Amino acid sequence: MNSIEQQIKNLRDELRNHNHNYYVLDVPSITDYDFDTKLKQLQELEIKHPEFYDANSPTQRVGGAVTKNFETTVHEHRMYSLDNSYSREDLQDWETRIKKLVDGDVQYACELKYDGASISLTYEKGLLVKAVTRGDGFQGDNVTANIKTIKSVPLQLKGDYPDKFDIRGEIVLPFDGFNKMNEERIELGEEPYRNPRNTASGSLKLQDSAEVAKRPLECLLYNLTGANLGVNTQYESLDKARQWGFKVPDAAKLALSIDEVLEFVDYWDIHRHNLPYETDGVVIKVNNLQQQEELGYTAKAPRWAMAYKFKAERVSTKLKSITYQVGRTGAITPVANLEPVELAGTTVKRASLHNADQIEKLDVRVDDIVYVEKGGEIIPKILGVDLNLRPASSEITNYITECPECHTKLVRKEGEAQHYCPNYMGCNPQVIGRIQHFISRKAMDIDGLGGETVALLVNEGLISNYSDLYELSKEQVMPLDRMAEKSAENLINGIEHSKNILFQRVLFALGIRYVGETVAKKLAKHYKNIDAIAQATLEDLVNVDEIGVKIAESVVDFFDSEENGLIINRLKGFGVQLELSADVLLVQTELLKGDIVVVTGVFESVSRSELKKLIEDNGGKVGSSISSKTSYIVAGSNMGPSKKAKAEKLDISIISEDEFLRKLK
Ligand code: AMP
Ligand code: ZN
Repeated sequence: MNSIEQQIKNLRDELRNHNHNYYVLDVPSITDYDFDTKLKQLQELEIKHPEFYDANSPTQRVGGAVTKNFETTVHEHRMYSLDNSYSREDLQDWETRIKKLVDGDVQYACELKYDGASISLTYEKGLLVKAVTRGDGFQGDNVTANIKTIKSVPLQLKGDYPDKFDIRGEIVLPFDGFNKMNEERIELGEEPYRNPRNTASGSLKLQDSAEVAKRPLECLLYNLTGANLGVNTQYESLDKARQWGFKVPDAAKLALSIDEVLEFVDYWDIHRHNLPYETDGVVIKVNNLQQQEELGYTAKAPRWAMAYKFKAERVSTKLKSITYQVGRTGAITPVANLEPVELAGTTVKRASLHNADQIEKLDVRVDDIVYVEKGGEIIPKILGVDLNLRPASSEITNYITECPECHTKLVRKEGEAQHYCPNYMGCNPQVIGRIQHFISRKAMDIDGLGGETVALLVNEGLISNYSDLYELSKEQVMPLDRMAEKSAENLINGIEHSKNILFQRVLFALGIRYVGETVAKKLAKHYKNIDAIAQATLEDLVNVDEIGVKIAESVVDFFDSEENGLIINRLKGFGVQLELSADVLLVQTELLKGDIVVVTGVFESVSRSELKKLIEDNGGKVGSSISSKTSYIVAGSNMGPSKKAKAEKLDISIISEDEFLRKLK
């Protein structure tokens, strides 16, 4: 093995190992920074040396493959459903039925019932070859490209795994990640996702696997299927799966009787609230695989397994008042303030009422006794009202018509659930929220400036929009609470540095409703500079790939505002980047004279057709396919393996997008 190949192999092994420690065992063995550095190193080597391409390399986790139609795939072994039980009697009846059908002692493997989307993974020779959703149990959708981006799914197994087998599990979205996703959505003025389960199963069917890669999904495994697996019991198979690198929660326990099963149920009915993901019961399985085979299946479920469903936690309490919060986009959220009550191990004081329709539908009123349930949501939700306990004096809830902060009349657009305060420039929480978004990590990433300081700056009258930040002086901020010479200096430096932030991030930072990171990237790439976006009409905008009417309208609205125009002009004046830095796009040279260049893959900062135009504008020729005449290849991500092989055979060098753009600078 030559040294480059060895280097690539070592990096892959090392990264795979860190991945396993972090995502499967939950014990990180490297810092994020070091991990990213090594991953980049591997990526660069792989681009330079396509001959060592491996579909299961850790670099493939970032996704990129787009699936337009998910291929329907027949399950080699059917994916059954489970029978449900709700009481001790149900379980005892089940045991009686089992004992009639098998001889000898019966032991039970007890597991948690993870609430997500079921998945069947096929491994051959230790490699993940296929991931298929449950579908109707007989056939499902092939979602392999998306599943590969989930870090707890091993792409390559370790230890003494069987040659070929299926393993079943559940794709879940842990609460932490779910809540983070929702915070971001709320910031963008979008409706939050309702619960982790639907969000997890929706994620599997996203067309762009790079989007799936961004979602913090996990895969928890519970069943091995196939011939000659070398195991005799369910419990053993869980252990084996762990050894091969799968994530199998260690809550699983062996029970020798239904009484012990019930102990397991009782324990988890309480402790499940401390788990990082959602569960909706436990699953009890006859442990001995020989006995499982004797018991077989009914038309829809195995006779050897039984789900036991937890009762949903619900309490009743008094609704003391309804208050209304104003978000950064002006969206109003009604909040129910409750008489504090214990629910699922925490004290609940508030619940979301979502919007005016929800309040009307539930007919909730102040002083009502309401039912509160805790699902996967950030805060609990109100299910309904106990009408028997409604006081005679009760009055219907009238939704507010004015902004609680600035008293402007609220508006509600046709077809939208949320009310908005339209006082864009004068409503304090909107003004502050917008600047807080502007400085946030994923936007302008201004070091030394925090959300509370922003609120202080606004309330002290030092700034009233984000362009004012660039005129702040050290002397102005020094007198603020908790500011010292050093921190004031850091703040001013941080603001200065943000002038290096790339255009697409500035565009995101502006806080245009519905323009998240991905949309901002698309717009920046398409229009190249802020003026072109500002001048784009609704029709222009909707013609851009993946820009819908809702986004387009919001962009047009934003630039229709004279104030925004002034703010953007000021940003320009201060030197904030308001155009793509690939200014090479405009120049024409003879730099590539005589070169025949082949372009392949997906690019970050320019489109493929722009790249071709660049080659021609600079005197080169675009080659249609790789041949001995090709001078070199510019490769983005996801270059096909056959092209790589061909390039290698003809000894043609491959350069990255960045290297190419540097050539022209
Ligand atoms: P149901 O959808 O209610 O019929 O329940 C059956 C589903 O429970 C299966 O399709 C699995 O996706 C899911 N499930 C979650 N955890 C487990 C587990 N530990 N064992 C078996 N199935 C499970
Ligand atoms: Zn307002």
